Amino acid sequence: MLEGRNLTVTYDGFKALDGVSVQLKPGMVTGLIGPNGAGKSTLFSVLAGSVIPTTGQVYFNDEDITSRPPVIRARLGLGRSFQLSRDLAGLTVVENLLVAQPERQFEGIGAALFRRNAIRHRQEIMIEKARELLSRVDLWRLADQPSAALSGGQKKLLDLCRVLMLEPRFILLDEPSAGVNPTRIAEITEFIRSLVAEGISFGMVEHNMGMVAALCDQVYALAEGRLVAHGTFEEVTANDDVARAYLGV
Ligand code: ADP
Ligand code: MG
Repeated sequence: MLEGRNLTVTYDGFKALDGVSVQLKPGMVTGLIGPNGAGKSTLFSVLAGSVIPTTGQVYFNDEDITSRPPVIRARLGLGRSFQLSRDLAGLTVVENLLVAQPERQFEGIGAALFRRNAIRHRQEIMIEKARELLSRVDLWRLADQPSAALSGGQKKLLDLCRVLMLEPRFILLDEPSAGVNPTRIAEITEFIRSLVAEGISFGMVEHNMGMVAALCDQVYALAEGRLVAHGTFEEVTANDDVARAYLGV
């Protein structure tokens, strides 16, 4: 389980998050909804480790990881998606997956040369893993194309495959449907569903209520840095304020 307890994040006296507690349970997809500026991305950054909370703690499987950097969280099995950055967009589709090797970050050049054979072997394993993942989302046929040429939906699938290279048990997704053609959203939804069936748990910030309704076992609604509702999608959207703010009714 991934848990945030009483999290507050203050930027120059402004509380982007104010006493928020969430529990993202294993085997579940947890949705996080709320208007722009509500603090959703900040909460995800705190859970993933790129923002340290001003107060409060983050626990992963009962271990206090509040001050653990993202790379250590990744090794513990916590993954996070990012939009493709400009640097990575200069790579081919398959190269985008091959750079996702956590070992690289700890290895000096000297050690790498001494361990060349081991590294070559590992690269073969990585390429095989990349091939399997890309085949599942119909991107292997585009393996040698620049990733910049992919559609919005294909970039989201590629990004998710990049996270999967590290074999996480828990994945945080920030707006998986953003910039995605509506007909492709179903494809991403199906892929996430198949990963859940394989035992991977998810947290997702999402504006597309169809996707939230289709995937999320529980939903937290945030507004102005505070939690305003928690429950199933039906329960949360039965709250009049939430319905007005997010469903436009
Ligand atoms: P959401 O993802 O729900 O749209 P964010 O978590 O991105 O909201 O932002 C919450 C609030 O915190 C916003 O008012 C935003 O302007 C502010 N904020 C986010 N990051 C920073 C930062 N690094 N410095 C100052 N203010 C920030
Ligand atoms: Mg955001």
